[in-house]
Amino acid sequence: MTRDTGLYIHVPFCLSKCPYCDFYSVRYGREKAREYAAAVVRNIRHYGGRFDTVYFGGGTPILLYEHIGGILAAADIVPDAEITVEANPCMAEPHILAALRKTGVNRLSFGVQSMNERELAFLGRRHTVTQAENALRNAHTAGFDNISADMMIALPGQSEDDIARTAERLAGLGAVHISAYILKVEDGTPFAERELSLPDDDRAAELYLHTVDTLERLGYRQYEISNFAREGYESRHNLKYWRCEEYLGIGAAAHSYLDGKRFCTARDIDAFIASPVQEVSITDEKPGDWEEYAMLKLRLTEGITFAEAARFGKAGELLANAEKLPRSLVSITDSGVSLTPEGFVVSNAVIGKLIFG
Ligand code: SF4
Repeated sequence: MTRDTGLYIHVPFCLSKCPYCDFYSVRYGREKAREYAAAVVRNIRHYGGRFDTVYFGGGTPILLYEHIGGILAAADIVPDAEITVEANPCMAEPHILAALRKTGVNRLSFGVQSMNERELAFLGRRHTVTQAENALRNAHTAGFDNISADMMIALPGQSEDDIARTAERLAGLGAVHISAYILKVEDGTPFAERELSLPDDDRAAELYLHTVDTLERLGYRQYEISNFAREGYESRHNLKYWRCEEYLGIGAAAHSYLDGKRFCTARDIDAFIASPVQEVSITDEKPGDWEEYAMLKLRLTEGITFAEAARFGKAGELLANAEKLPRSLVSITDSGVSLTPEGFVVSNAVIGKLIFG
């Protein structure tokens, strides 16, 4: 590693499993969490490097709050680094958030999902609307100003007003970043076994476009398909993924892009704890080619510039492919090409057309 990179730490513990979730996580146990944190520290020391963003993702990383200071102390982190911890609102007690703030954590990402009790119950979340409100308030009191919240859209029976109420409530509580995801039923989850009356694709698209409009109205600028931020509060760590920059992932089921290779670890906590250094499988020997680069960059509203495309010898092809698509789906300027919100609704098809014609 020759330059500052991102550090991702996967924390695969949860208090219970939400019925839509296919992330790798197991039930939290205090002793197992301690062993896991020690293994994370071992690996950080093994890889070395210097980091300008750190992201604890999960799972429920806030469950490791007693260990986060020790983990951060093992890493070489630049002074103005963005350090994020994902948090479940039901755990956001004042003393826990104050302890996190003291360790240097400066960004919290709350899995709020909804400010509607019926929707939270459907999603099988452990927290209530009141707990979500208290979580954001407690975060401010503990000294956090960089606060993100997730919200879920395209739920059964969800209306435009339901979405607006959640977004407005989050804005009122001082979230400066919102990630809005369309609910997808993943194979192997409890939701996949149930008969759910989810909105069809057209209705989901309407709700997505309504979410984009609502968040823009509330002062959040869309910068990625599912991500919106007040100015200056875009997630610096997640931007690395979409800009095809390198990051080190540590933990069970963690992915990395480092020293010119993409690699991942197994979905196996015990193997991660037992191994002196995490065992990795190379998933891509030569990442960063045109297809991958364009596919990631076009998720961002900044899109891809002709200068970037020219580095791959693709500037002419990109322009020619973009000109064949309706202006409602792609925007073409003197400097480059990007997707519109309507384009994001059918992003896979549009990005495919831009890359392959
Ligand atoms: S808390 Fe998050 S990671 Fe854990 S099961 Fe629920 S959605 Fe998945």
